[in-house]
Amino acid sequence: MATINSGGASTSREELVSKPGTKSEVWQYFGLAKGPDGTAVNDGAVYCKLCAKKVTAKSGNTSNLKAHLKNNHKMIHCQLQKPSATVAKENRCRRRSPQIMV
Ligand SMILES: [Zn+2]
Repeated sequence: MATINSGGASTSREELVSKPGTKSEVWQYFGLAKGPDGTAVNDGAVYCKLCAKKVTAKSGNTSNLKAHLKNNHKMIHCQLQKPSATVAKENRCRRRSPQIMV
């Protein structure tokens, strides 16, 4: 699949610092604002690297981040959910072929 490449979008917000010591994959799509001293500002504000929106996330809590991906970047959210267990889930992530519903 294609990698995420912001094709010259001008929305990039300053520099975002990756959250140190992250375990969750979801963090690859989010960053923390960089403070004046170059370290991450960890005040609960997280910025989406995809749309530069601010998402509030208490430290270590990724549920808001996942919710943001789910609501705004559905495909990404789906990709995060590795279809290790359920095939049904994977199918849901597949691009739906347009169906004509009458
Ligand atoms: Zn976003």
